Amino acid sequence: MNESIAFFREFLAVEYTTLVARFCERDMFKWIAGCKTARAFVHPEIVGLLKGTTSSGRGLTPPESYWEKGAETLAGYRERPLIAALRTEHPKLGELSSFFTGFDSVQLEPGPHLRFDVCSIEGALKVVAWSAQCSTCRTSGTYQDGHCSDCDGLGWCQYPGGEAIGALGPVLEARLLMTDLDDRGMATLNGLGASVWL
Ligand SMILES: [Zn+2]
Repeated sequence: MNESIAFFREFLAVEYTTLVARFCERDMFKWIAGCKTARAFVHPEIVGLLKGTTSSGRGLTPPESYWEKGAETLAGYRERPLIAALRTEHPKLGELSSFFTGFDSVQLEPGPHLRFDVCSIEGALKVVAWSAQCSTCRTSGTYQDGHCSDCDGLGWCQYPGGEAIGALGPVLEARLLMTDLDDRGMATLNGLGASVWL
Protein backbone atom coordinates (compact mmCIF):
# COMPACT_ATOMS: atom_id res chain seq x y z
CA MET A 1 0.00 0.00 0.00
CA ASN A 2 3.02 2.28 0.41
CA GLU A 3 3.16 2.88 -3.32
CA SER A 4 -0.43 4.11 -3.51
CA ILE A 5 0.05 6.28 -0.38
CA ALA A 6 3.11 7.92 -1.99
CA PHE A 7 1.10 8.41 -5.21
CA PHE A 8 -1.80 9.98 -3.35
CA ARG A 9 0.42 12.30 -1.27
CA GLU A 10 1.97 13.50 -4.53
CA PHE A 11 -1.49 14.03 -6.01
CA LEU A 12 -2.55 16.22 -3.05
CA ALA A 13 0.64 18.28 -3.35
CA VAL A 14 0.20 18.72 -7.12
CA GLU A 15 -3.49 19.55 -6.71
CA TYR A 16 -2.65 22.34 -4.25
CA THR A 17 0.28 23.64 -6.32
CA THR A 18 -2.08 23.95 -9.30
CA LEU A 19 -4.59 25.86 -7.20
CA VAL A 20 -1.86 28.25 -6.05
CA ALA A 21 -0.74 28.71 -9.67
CA ARG A 22 -4.29 29.47 -10.79
CA PHE A 23 -4.33 32.52 -8.51
CA CYS A 24 -0.65 33.51 -8.37
CA GLU A 25 1.26 32.28 -11.43
CA ARG A 26 1.43 35.14 -13.93
CA ASP A 27 2.98 33.00 -16.65
CA MET A 28 -0.08 31.37 -18.19
CA PHE A 29 1.95 28.65 -19.91
CA LYS A 30 3.50 27.54 -16.62
CA TRP A 31 0.03 27.32 -15.09
CA ILE A 32 -1.31 25.35 -18.07
CA ALA A 33 1.64 22.93 -17.85
CA GLY A 34 0.82 22.46 -14.15
CA CYS A 35 -2.83 21.75 -14.98
CA LYS A 36 -1.74 19.04 -17.38
CA THR A 37 0.41 17.46 -14.66
CA ALA A 38 -2.50 17.52 -12.20
CA ARG A 39 -4.96 16.04 -14.70
CA ALA A 40 -2.65 13.08 -15.32
CA PHE A 41 -3.32 11.88 -11.75
CA VAL A 42 -7.06 11.47 -12.21
CA HIS A 43 -9.57 9.58 -14.35
CA PRO A 44 -10.39 11.73 -17.44
CA GLU A 45 -14.07 11.98 -16.46
CA ILE A 46 -13.36 13.68 -13.14
CA VAL A 47 -10.77 16.28 -14.11
CA GLY A 48 -13.50 18.92 -13.70
CA LEU A 49 -13.24 18.45 -9.93
CA LEU A 50 -9.71 19.89 -9.91
CA LYS A 51 -10.64 23.47 -9.16
CA GLY A 52 -7.10 24.78 -9.72
CA THR A 53 -7.42 23.88 -13.38
CA THR A 54 -10.61 25.84 -14.08
CA SER A 55 -9.97 29.03 -16.01
CA SER A 56 -13.15 31.00 -15.23
CA GLY A 57 -12.31 34.58 -14.24
CA ARG A 58 -8.66 34.25 -15.17
CA GLY A 59 -8.75 34.86 -18.93
CA LEU A 60 -5.70 35.48 -21.09
CA THR A 61 -4.39 38.61 -19.41
CA PRO A 62 -5.97 39.09 -16.01
CA PRO A 63 -6.09 42.64 -14.64
CA GLU A 64 -4.01 43.57 -11.57
CA SER A 65 -7.11 43.25 -9.39
CA TYR A 66 -7.23 39.53 -10.24
CA TRP A 67 -3.84 38.96 -8.60
CA GLU A 68 -4.73 41.02 -5.56
CA LYS A 69 -8.01 39.20 -5.02
CA GLY A 70 -6.36 35.86 -5.89
CA ALA A 71 -3.86 36.10 -3.04
CA GLU A 72 -6.74 36.87 -0.68
CA THR A 73 -8.82 33.93 -1.96
CA LEU A 74 -5.89 31.59 -1.72
CA ALA A 75 -5.38 32.40 1.97
CA GLY A 76 -8.62 30.48 2.60
CA TYR A 77 -7.25 27.27 1.09
CA ARG A 78 -4.78 24.59 2.14
CA GLU A 79 -3.58 21.28 0.82
CA ARG A 80 -6.24 18.73 1.77
CA PRO A 81 -5.35 17.08 5.06
CA LEU A 82 -4.76 13.36 4.55
CA ILE A 83 -6.34 11.35 7.34
CA ALA A 84 -6.42 7.66 6.54
CA ALA A 85 -6.18 4.99 3.87
CA LEU A 86 -8.04 1.74 3.38
CA ARG A 87 -7.08 -1.10 1.07
CA THR A 88 -9.93 -3.31 -0.15
CA GLU A 89 -10.64 -5.78 -2.92
CA HIS A 90 -13.08 -4.42 -5.50
CA PRO A 91 -15.14 -6.93 -7.54
CA LYS A 92 -14.37 -5.23 -10.85
CA LEU A 93 -11.28 -3.08 -10.30
CA GLY A 94 -9.21 -5.44 -8.14
CA GLU A 95 -7.10 -3.90 -5.42
CA LEU A 96 -8.49 -0.51 -4.48
CA SER A 97 -6.98 2.08 -2.13
CA SER A 98 -9.41 4.60 -0.64
CA PHE A 99 -8.02 7.80 0.87
CA PHE A 100 -9.92 9.88 3.39
CA THR A 101 -9.22 13.60 3.54
CA GLY A 102 -10.57 16.87 4.81
CA PHE A 103 -11.77 19.78 2.72
CA ASP A 104 -9.26 22.24 1.32
CA SER A 105 -10.81 25.14 3.26
CA VAL A 106 -8.75 26.32 6.26
CA GLN A 107 -11.96 27.10 8.15
CA LEU A 108 -13.22 23.52 8.41
CA GLU A 109 -12.20 20.78 10.82
CA PRO A 110 -10.11 18.02 9.24
CA GLY A 111 -12.93 15.51 8.73
CA PRO A 112 -12.80 13.00 7.05
CA HIS A 113 -15.20 14.60 4.58
CA LEU A 114 -13.99 13.22 1.26
CA ARG A 115 -12.93 9.87 -0.12
CA PHE A 116 -10.70 9.36 -3.16
CA ASP A 117 -10.46 5.89 -4.68
CA VAL A 118 -7.21 4.90 -6.34
CA CYS A 119 -6.38 1.85 -8.42
CA SER A 120 -4.10 0.79 -11.22
CA ILE A 121 -5.49 1.43 -14.71
CA GLU A 122 -3.41 0.03 -17.58
CA GLY A 123 -0.38 -0.18 -15.31
CA ALA A 124 -0.58 3.34 -13.82
CA LEU A 125 -2.15 4.46 -10.56
CA LYS A 126 -5.04 6.90 -10.98
CA VAL A 127 -7.64 8.57 -8.80
CA VAL A 128 -10.64 6.83 -10.35
CA ALA A 129 -13.51 8.13 -8.19
CA TRP A 130 -14.25 10.94 -5.76
CA SER A 131 -16.95 10.85 -3.03
CA ALA A 132 -18.24 13.09 -0.27
CA GLN A 133 -19.40 12.00 3.15
CA CYS A 134 -23.20 11.64 3.05
CA SER A 135 -24.50 14.69 4.88
CA THR A 136 -27.75 12.90 5.85
CA CYS A 137 -26.41 9.76 7.57
CA ARG A 138 -22.79 10.93 8.07
CA THR A 139 -21.41 7.64 6.66
CA SER A 140 -23.52 5.27 8.77
CA GLY A 141 -25.70 4.33 5.77
CA THR A 142 -28.81 4.41 7.96
CA TYR A 143 -31.13 7.30 8.73
CA GLN A 144 -34.00 7.35 11.22
CA ASP A 145 -33.51 3.59 11.72
CA GLY A 146 -33.83 2.90 8.00
CA HIS A 147 -31.83 2.70 4.81
CA CYS A 148 -30.37 6.12 3.91
CA SER A 149 -31.78 6.90 0.47
CA ASP A 150 -29.45 9.86 -0.15
CA CYS A 151 -26.39 7.60 -0.43
CA ASP A 152 -28.25 4.31 -1.02
CA GLY A 153 -26.87 3.03 2.28
CA LEU A 154 -23.24 3.44 1.19
CA GLY A 155 -22.44 6.33 3.54
CA TRP A 156 -20.61 8.19 0.77
CA CYS A 157 -22.03 9.96 -2.30
CA GLN A 158 -19.90 9.58 -5.40
CA TYR A 159 -19.50 12.58 -7.67
CA PRO A 160 -20.56 11.83 -11.26
CA GLY A 161 -17.95 10.33 -13.56
CA GLY A 162 -15.03 7.99 -13.09
CA GLU A 163 -15.33 4.33 -12.16
CA ALA A 164 -18.51 3.19 -10.41
CA ILE A 165 -17.29 2.04 -7.02
CA GLY A 166 -20.44 1.09 -5.09
CA ALA A 167 -19.84 -0.61 -1.73
CA LEU A 168 -16.24 -1.17 -0.66
CA GLY A 169 -15.19 -4.81 -0.38
CA PRO A 170 -13.64 -6.50 2.67
CA VAL A 171 -10.86 -4.47 4.30
CA LEU A 172 -7.37 -5.87 3.68
CA GLU A 173 -5.42 -3.09 5.37
CA ALA A 174 -6.24 0.12 7.26
CA ARG A 175 -3.73 2.90 7.85
CA LEU A 176 -4.19 5.97 10.03
CA LEU A 177 -2.13 8.78 8.51
CA MET A 178 -3.04 11.68 10.83
CA THR A 179 -1.79 11.45 14.41
CA ASP A 180 -4.00 14.05 16.07
CA LEU A 181 -7.41 13.17 14.61
CA ASP A 182 -10.32 14.26 16.84
CA ASP A 183 -12.87 11.84 18.32
CA ARG A 184 -15.51 12.64 15.74
CA GLY A 185 -13.14 11.88 12.87
CA MET A 186 -12.02 8.67 14.56
CA ALA A 187 -15.65 7.62 15.00
CA THR A 188 -16.17 8.00 11.24
CA LEU A 189 -13.13 5.83 10.51
CA ASN A 190 -14.29 3.21 13.00
CA GLY A 191 -17.47 2.79 10.97
CA LEU A 192 -15.53 1.72 7.87
CA GLY A 193 -15.24 -1.95 8.72
CA ALA A 194 -11.56 -2.19 9.71
CA SER A 195 -10.86 -4.12 12.91
CA VAL A 196 -7.66 -2.19 13.56
CA TRP A 197 -6.05 1.01 12.27
CA LEU A 198 -2.27 0.88 11.98
ZN1 LIG B 1 -26.47 8.50 3.66
